[in-house]
Amino acid sequence: MATNPSWVVLKFGGTSVSSRGRWETIAEVISERLTEEATGRVMVVCSALSGVTNQLEEIIAQAPRGAHHEVLAAIVQKHLRLGDDLGVDAELLLHEEFSALERLALGASLVGEVSPRVQAQILSCGELMSTRLGAAFVGGLLKEVRWMDARTLLRTVAEPHASLRRRYLSAACEASIDRELQARLAGASERVVMTQGFIASNDAGESVLLGRGGSDTSAAYLAAALQAERLEIWTDVPGMFSANPRQVATARLLKRLDYAEAQELATMGARVLHPRCLGPVREHNIALHIRCTPEPRQEGTVIAAQAVGQGPQVKAVSAKHGVTVISMETLGMWQQVGFLADTFAVFKEHGLSIDMVATSESEVSVTLDPMANALDPAALARLQRDLGRTCKARIVEGCAVVSLVGRQVRSILSQLAPALNVFEEQQIYLVSQSASDLNLSFVVDEAQADRLVSRLHQLLFGEQGPDALFGPSWEELSGRVLPQAPFADAWWRGRRDELLKLAEQGATYAYSPETLRTQAARLTSMASIDRVFFAIKANPNPEILRLLEARGLGFECVSPGEVAHIRELFPQLETGRLLFTPNFAPRREYEQGFEAGAMVTLDNLYPLEAWPEVFEGREVLVRVDPGQGAGHHRYVRTAGPKSKFGVSVEELPRLAELAEQINLKVVGLHAHVGSGVRRAGTWSSTAVFLAQCRAHFPDVRWLNLGGGLGVPERPGQEALDLGAVDASLAEFKKAHPTLELWLEPGRFLVSEAGVLLARVTQLKTKGAYHYVGLETGMNSLIRPALYGAYHAIVNLTRQGEAPEVEAEIVGPICESGDVLGHARWLPRCAEGDVLLLANAGSYGRAMSSRYNLREPAAEVMLPALELGE
Ligand code: ADP
Ligand code: ASP
Ligand code: MG
Repeated sequence: MATNPSWVVLKFGGTSVSSRGRWETIAEVISERLTEEATGRVMVVCSALSGVTNQLEEIIAQAPRGAHHEVLAAIVQKHLRLGDDLGVDAELLLHEEFSALERLALGASLVGEVSPRVQAQILSCGELMSTRLGAAFVGGLLKEVRWMDARTLLRTVAEPHASLRRRYLSAACEASIDRELQARLAGASERVVMTQGFIASNDAGESVLLGRGGSDTSAAYLAAALQAERLEIWTDVPGMFSANPRQVATARLLKRLDYAEAQELATMGARVLHPRCLGPVREHNIALHIRCTPEPRQEGTVIAAQAVGQGPQVKAVSAKHGVTVISMETLGMWQQVGFLADTFAVFKEHGLSIDMVATSESEVSVTLDPMANALDPAALARLQRDLGRTCKARIVEGCAVVSLVGRQVRSILSQLAPALNVFEEQQIYLVSQSASDLNLSFVVDEAQADRLVSRLHQLLFGEQGPDALFGPSWEELSGRVLPQAPFADAWWRGRRDELLKLAEQGATYAYSPETLRTQAARLTSMASIDRVFFAIKANPNPEILRLLEARGLGFECVSPGEVAHIRELFPQLETGRLLFTPNFAPRREYEQGFEAGAMVTLDNLYPLEAWPEVFEGREVLVRVDPGQGAGHHRYVRTAGPKSKFGVSVEELPRLAELAEQINLKVVGLHAHVGSGVRRAGTWSSTAVFLAQCRAHFPDVRWLNLGGGLGVPERPGQEALDLGAVDASLAEFKKAHPTLELWLEPGRFLVSEAGVLLARVTQLKTKGAYHYVGLETGMNSLIRPALYGAYHAIVNLTRQGEAPEVEAEIVGPICESGDVLGHARWLPRCAEGDVLLLANAGSYGRAMSSRYNLREPAAEVMLPALELGE
């Protein structure tokens, strides 16, 4: 029973409190709630500004070395700037926190460490600062806002035996009704209370935290304490989706979930809700709504006791990263009594909470969740040592749990069979299915997780249309509702008329010289990189090659045909700009490479053993397999034992020996981890790895770090931070000033510069499916069929018109796989409309064919734009 007047609790996350626009929305939402009769009072719980808790953690990391000043200044600046935008005096309002941070960081630098107690004090400043600014701003508009310190509202449960980290950084409160608090607040004249998420106090009145992402949990405890009508969690996406929408654009909004399902989703990695926030609302039967601050009119997800539908159903696919797997083999004592009890006791001694368990007769595997455990290498080594008393323990770090979440997942196992094919090529460390039958989880290498989620989602929900449970897809929402149209800044939006004219000639690849130049300049201006080679397999179009040659780039070729192509175009090209990297090529090709004056890369011992005379007295690079693959699909992951590329590290000593025998100098080392990588640290890890391999090869002066630089392909995907790549490589270079660093990108240079234009030929509707036929298909662009690659598709003729139908975009080829885009939201198309497929400059025309004896699209380099136009 709700008391009178009843409360509604609103929680706003980091991105929801970081700008004036968002605070205006917050003020509007609060005033709307105040006017709703049932909810006379509003408790507003806020996170720190986006990124601030991470910056405070950075202070904790840097302060012991006295190196915190820069990040502290950045935090202060961020708040002063927001204060300015909000028209409130941040200097005055935040004086206390600014000086507390100075003092705490200085203390840490003097003693050289930061205890969990002090960490909690430092981290609590983030929420204190955001709410002080917010309360001043909203208070100015609504006049009845009271700022309260959450440490006077939430008291944590004492856990005297828990670790200090747990007690200060990841504490819990009791989810009980707090009549004393209700009475205290009933007396206040203001109807709105604004307080901090994430922070609470312990029995001693000290600041303690509820774990990273814990503001959701604060709000849930307060909703329980106040017997709120409703808890609303306001974030940056309009609800819980069938997968992380920022990763899977076709993920659909889940309109309604019950508590158990939402709990399962949150636990299995759907970050939008903190796993601990569901307990309190469930216990007190308080409905939880997820809403979107950038799109306050969207209805979002409602989580309550009753979900939609009763039958078995998979509702979402999620992934949890940074998981550690521990496999424990018994010491040969089958049917031994107490093995599990003894083994698990060791985890308890170490204060580690186990997440998933799978057992067989001789082996037990468990996972440790990084959210719940402090897993530094020393802690893991101690655990392994103590587990040695009862078993042989193997620790695998860097895993991810990929889960299918829903109801009665077990009963639909047979339907999952096709979906499980995606695991064929993956090593699965552990499979587990919850007793509640709400999830089925697979533990795999972290590098595989995102791709697996996309594949599983496609297989399980590819056919899913909107219904009572599933709402619109993220793609649809971002295309239709969210303010930014996908690829709003793309060059082709500004050249629409020219492109429409070009398309009158038939299907065409069009290339933008400006984009090619920009991408080339971005790479050649990286201070840490000495040479850039264009991997011409991505696009050997002569005009593109000429443009890149003129900008000083070299070329990486993988066949004698490519080498000859370059030599024909640039007969005078210096040797240092031509790289030949064959793989499983016949003897003759190596000879041709040397004859053509290319630098040759060797990626096997076989050529040296079988044809030593070809290599005698020469210089080569050696391609090394770094062991772990990364990339967007298994065919483009080019490292690890399952990949055919590179020499394994174990074979390097033998290679060095063979080289010495024939006076062959290894002057460069090369590694390439995969394609479409957007993690900035990838290339510096490769550099570090190659530098270690140098021990076998004293003549090495070049490190070729490969390519694989990804570009954003789906709406909302973040671009690779090239500045961060450069900075991390600059660090490496400081330590190895004599080594030259090379990159050999393909996609990064040409992908965004190219678009494929094709006209609509026919339309068809079958049941709920709309098909839009194009004049060309997989004969021009095979990537969607081959890799499941995603290309944004826009109806150029109707640019600016609102999307109305969800369509399959298909070509004329006699293959059911001839689908260029699946479930795309477009304006209604008509025969003759020109559709544009974005990011088609790499591996588009280069991989095209005359399959079905249909000519693939032609190619056109657009004229350079006049400056000043
Ligand atoms: P806040 O700062 O508002 O607490 P979070 O970053 O903690 O926001 O959570 C929101 C993010 O959760 C979204 O931006 C989205 O990327 C991520 N997310 C992961 N899985 C899901 C899912 N299944 N549905 C919705 N969002 C998800
Ligand atoms: N600011 C805290 C964090 O980033 C808590 C939260 O936002 O939920 O972890
Ligand atoms: Mg959050």
